Amino acid sequence: MGTARSRERRASGRPSVFRWECRCQEPPQLLATYDEGGRINIKVRDRYWHVFGLVRTICPRCGAEHLLDLRSVRDEPAADPAGLGT
Ligand SMILES: [Zn+2]
Repeated sequence: MGTARSRERRASGRPSVFRWECRCQEPPQLLATYDEGGRINIKVRDRYWHVFGLVRTICPRCGAEHLLDLRSVRDEPAADPAGLGT
């Protein structure tokens, strides 16, 4: 499901941005955002970190470890990285 989402582009031409979140609570805890180009955006205090590839983090609420692997996205822009919230 959701395979079409990664192909969507806004009329402005800006890349779609996806939320990487832990669903341990409502509302989900946002861990980072990432775009269809495979760039992960992590906000730490007053700074944004831009990461390509693979990133691992800990949910600040429940302590669960999450792995986001977008290494294949850069090669295949049509890939759907959703559902990696393990
Ligand atoms: Zn959590």
